[in-house]
Amino acid sequence: MTVSVRFAPSPTGFLHVGNARTALVNWLFARRHGGRFLLRLDDTDLERSEARFADGIFEDLAWLGLDHDRFERQSDRLAAYRAAFDRLHAAGRVYACYETPDELALKRKVQLARHQPPVYDRAGLRLSAAQHAAFAAEGRRPHWRFRLDDGSVGWDDIVHGPLAFDGAKLGDPVILRADGQPIYTFASVVDDLEMGISHVIRGDDHISNTPVHIQIYQALGGDPAGLAFAHLALLAGGQGEKLSKRQGSLSLRSLRDEGVEAMAVAALLARLGTADPVEPATDLARIVDGFDLARFGRSPPHFELPELWQVNAKVLHLLPFAAVSDRLAAVAPGADADFWEAIRPNLERLADAAGWWQVCRGPLAPVIDEPDFAAAVAALLPPEPWDGESWRAWTLAIQAATGRKGKALFQPLRRALTARDHGPEMRNLLPLIGRERVLRRLAGETA
Ligand code: GLU
Repeated sequence: MTVSVRFAPSPTGFLHVGNARTALVNWLFARRHGGRFLLRLDDTDLERSEARFADGIFEDLAWLGLDHDRFERQSDRLAAYRAAFDRLHAAGRVYACYETPDELALKRKVQLARHQPPVYDRAGLRLSAAQHAAFAAEGRRPHWRFRLDDGSVGWDDIVHGPLAFDGAKLGDPVILRADGQPIYTFASVVDDLEMGISHVIRGDDHISNTPVHIQIYQALGGDPAGLAFAHLALLAGGQGEKLSKRQGSLSLRSLRDEGVEAMAVAALLARLGTADPVEPATDLARIVDGFDLARFGRSPPHFELPELWQVNAKVLHLLPFAAVSDRLAAVAPGADADFWEAIRPNLERLADAAGWWQVCRGPLAPVIDEPDFAAAVAALLPPEPWDGESWRAWTLAIQAATGRKGKALFQPLRRALTARDHGPEMRNLLPLIGRERVLRRLAGETA
């Protein structure tokens, strides 16, 4: 069987970590199995869908590195949904209903008061031809419901295992609104069937849609045995709370603007919810190799920003110069591979490179605690050219001349040369700062 999956966001907002994870898992699954990844915009809700969000989804997926093999948007396919609806109509699987939202709310209230499940009572199914005609005469246009089969609908969920629902307790879903717009759950089934989707991988907030999905799929001539489902447990916050309230701050674009690496997002999201450790990686191919959908568990994994930042640092520490040179040029113009390799282990975010570039190229006001010591060590500086051994030669000379060692020796040098207490290894920084600048800083000058 050819694997064919889809990521189907509604362009009603920017992608956040939750839907980025759904996108990533679909993409990884497709790539792992030599399959196809379809990007589909579920944009039948015209009031809430916006072009800027659609553009944003494209941009954010490109940033993450998730390329698609095919693109569709539901608003282009209204004729296909109409044709599918007509087939269901001809097969007697849909019926017209006229209740207003208020009438439906009232019915639900009565049912709840009677301790009955609040499912649609199928009143529309019992309307006589005369009643239909009367509604039509009033100018009321019907919305349409799909008539579910009673009896159990089940599937073997890749994440949750066997699941089953009683059709009689589900309530016939509306599939076409009175204005003729299809509801996206119906449109999705038509798409999944016509686009040859083999696996539906989505959040487990959609589990309750799946029995309906299966029945409509079947009513349209699809074989449910050819469609597998994996419902991923939704991400929760550090305290187990829903992430939805923080979607703005957890949008991919806000994370990117704060300096999170795409590979850090991918490495973390590929493993959250599995028992496997997060492996910082520098390219998606590495993550594809270790990917296994069967590893995802049922309980909601916790997504925490401090963990993302830890992964971010680890990813940065692995990235080669070539992978960052463009972005590095923006914060450290002129920086080369030697600089990158020297400072990389000390970065939490790429933008921090700007501070280290200033340490290497100035201007920097040195911190001189003991001017006499600074003058003494200046006289011991070896001549250039410098390399990775120059620091050792210099500090051995200082040790021999002053008897200092350990922190008493190294700390004043680091503070004089970098104005900081911690940082990259001095043996790497020294040649990057250069002899002339070192001498000026030891003399207390801003250089
Ligand atoms: N548009 C739906 C969503 O964003 C997609 C549901 C599905 O994957 O079937 O939740």
